[in-house]
Amino acid sequence: MDQIHAEPHEERCGARNRAGKPCRRWPVEGRSRCRLHGGCATGPRTPEGLERLRRAMTIHGRFSKEAVAERKRISALVRAARATLAAELLLEMR
Ligand SMILES: [Zn+2]
Repeated sequence: MDQIHAEPHEERCGARNRAGKPCRRWPVEGRSRCRLHGGCATGPRTPEGLERLRRAMTIHGRFSKEAVAERKRISALVRAARATLAAELLLEMR
């Protein structure tokens, strides 16, 4: 169980070192970079960092939680209005 990597040279860290050569250390288990090149990094954790990430990942915001909730609310409103109109029409036809 010593050799867990089938293609050792393809699964090395690969980050560029100060000499411009690829790092040859093993990546942190389950990650693609070694512990010296951010393999243990967990990403943003502070509120500011998470907000910066959110902004960086948002393209147009059409699928933001707020936008989806707004569309749902409007759809429900339209559905209710149509039901009301249909009921009124049925009453008029009597
Ligand atoms: Zn490395």
